Amino acid sequence: MRLRNIRGSKDVIASCPFVVQEPESCRGRWAEVFGNENPIHIEVGMGKGRFLMDMAVLHPEINYIGIEMYDSVLLRAVQKREKLETELKNLFFIRMDARQLPEVFAEGEVDRIYLNFSDPWPKDRHAKRRLTSHEFLARYEKILKKDGTLEFKTDNKDLFDFSLEEMKNAEGWELTAFTYDLHHDVVLSEGNVMTEYEEKFSSIGNPICKMEARFL
Ligand code: SAM
Repeated sequence: MRLRNIRGSKDVIASCPFVVQEPESCRGRWAEVFGNENPIHIEVGMGKGRFLMDMAVLHPEINYIGIEMYDSVLLRAVQKREKLETELKNLFFIRMDARQLPEVFAEGEVDRIYLNFSDPWPKDRHAKRRLTSHEFLARYEKILKKDGTLEFKTDNKDLFDFSLEEMKNAEGWELTAFTYDLHHDVVLSEGNVMTEYEEKFSSIGNPICKMEARFL
């Protein structure tokens, strides 16, 4: 998702109390930022943020961080969050490229990574930009706790097959579950929280694929 550049989005984001401005300075001290030792779950490529806002309401015992690369998209998440009636002390946003994750989180600081409807980058020469490529898995290894988990959802079967292969070939990971039809999978769909893209694609009949993996 890349929205047209929205004038003023940078200023709104820069003065927003729940957007962390210098995330590198929080590396190794996210528990201090949240004011508690609760587990940290991040969504990489959060888009307009509906998934994380719903999760933060449902799970006040988890600390959530939404990561989005574009100001114009993050602005939409900020605006959506400002309309909520609850304050959500357990959710921060960061505007950054996920390639910088190891500069923002210390080793073992993150308990779970969500990747929801990540951009497919269909050309082979762009494979390393896919958020499930081995290049990105190596970045996640630098920040995930031992036994930390990764959950990935998409309606793009080619991207999903690529991601399953990358995960199977990666050392130090265990593929714990997967389905090509999440909404009809009794076990994996339990407690499923829909993302904006999931709502959109499932409403036109696209089956949703999901993979879960554990970092050993
Ligand atoms: N997760 C949301 C959902 O399921 O509705 C949004 C999905 S949207 C297709 C993918 C989002 O990931 C876009 O907003 C894009 O800007 C963001 N993104 C892609 N690559 C990224 C990267 N390297 N770092 C941070 N965000 C990224």
